[in-house]
Amino acid sequence: MIYEGDVYRPPSEANSLIIQLTIGCAHNGCTFCSMYKNKHFRIRELNEVISDLYWVKEHYPYNFDRVFLADGDALIVKTDIIVAVLGKIYELFPHIRRVSTYGTARDILMKSPEELRMLRRCGLEMVYIGAETGSDKILRDVNKKISAAEMTEACLKLKAAGIKVSMTLVTGLGGRPDSTEHAIESARLVSATKPEYLGLLTLHLYADTPLGKAYRAGKFPALSPLEDLKEQKLFLENVDSEGTILRSNHVSNFLSLAGTLNHDREKMIAQLEAAISVAESNSGKLR
Ligand code: SF4
Repeated sequence: MIYEGDVYRPPSEANSLIIQLTIGCAHNGCTFCSMYKNKHFRIRELNEVISDLYWVKEHYPYNFDRVFLADGDALIVKTDIIVAVLGKIYELFPHIRRVSTYGTARDILMKSPEELRMLRRCGLEMVYIGAETGSDKILRDVNKKISAAEMTEACLKLKAAGIKVSMTLVTGLGGRPDSTEHAIESARLVSATKPEYLGLLTLHLYADTPLGKAYRAGKFPALSPLEDLKEQKLFLENVDSEGTILRSNHVSNFLSLAGTLNHDREKMIAQLEAAISVAESNSGKLR
């Protein structure tokens, strides 16, 4: 089995077997994202995917009990094809505990409730959805081509089908001008959808992206680490999402947070306040 191009997966899928159902991302147009810029999007043939699974069965030397379906939006694939792949995964590897995938809100909305329920019955347990923000303004600015209302509908549709939602937000995505809106509207989105998992990434301005170029041209005022911490605090002060497990343990994060909302919210706010206090006392170094 040969992976095509760079392969990405969420931090929590570090020990999963990764199988590419698609190559790249069908949208591939978000101004901050550099992940699939060098790939031409295509859906792989079912027989290619199945041969990968047989190859793994024969040759893969590692123990794994989770499978992650890549690349950027594997849910764009027709439901009967995903069902066939899930069936083969559980047939060849009956010890598998979880199959998950990235999914865009657009792909989820294209599937009927019955299709999503069938995917769940066939073993798709969780979908990672890159919401990035709950602000319609920022979603437009970064060319996400989806609204917060559609994002909300997609998450609720997954949950109604019994599929867990792992949502990702990108702190700093609105830059300095839209930091408050980003925090408040993202808190609104999370409160409305109550995902099972929430990951906070920190914006990284890649040089080859439109947002990275805007930053270098002085047209995108990025947050300082101190401002980023304050944005996270404002988000936490406004979110109400009982039971959501929050992690900000990505390499991009300035501070690692871990807790379950709403129970651990005050503890995480206190952690942020302590970090803000340190950052303010060293503001000359951090600003
Ligand atoms: S952020 Fe997600 S939807 Fe946007 S281009 Fe990157 S992979 Fe595609």
